[in-house]
Amino acid sequence: MRVLGPVVDEQTRCVHYRTEVDIVAIRFACCGEYYPCHRCHEESADHPATQWPLGERGERAVLCGVCRTELTIDAYLAADACPHCGSAFNERCRLHTHLYFETA
Ligand SMILES: [Zn+2]
Ligand SMILES: [Zn+2]
Ligand SMILES: [Zn+2]
Repeated sequence: MRVLGPVVDEQTRCVHYRTEVDIVAIRFACCGEYYPCHRCHEESADHPATQWPLGERGERAVLCGVCRTELTIDAYLAADACPHCGSAFNERCRLHTHLYFETA
């Protein structure tokens, strides 16, 4: 699974978000590529980001950087930690949900 953008470690932390809990990468609806965050996509991709439609929340579009499991959007939004390895997710990502996924 390749993750594009300025990634700084094997768990998908990037130059923008690199705390202990910044361990997910998002596959963008526009290009199907994984980036660690919206700013990585903005700086590295050659096109604007689009958001996953509400009807596509069954898509596997979130990568846990610790165990490399791909979660569905639904599973990710419902979880505080990776259902597979138990690693905590950054709860502040919730503030940015709308940058990746349609919310209404
Ligand atoms: Zn894209
Ligand atoms: Zn980033
Ligand atoms: Zn995991």
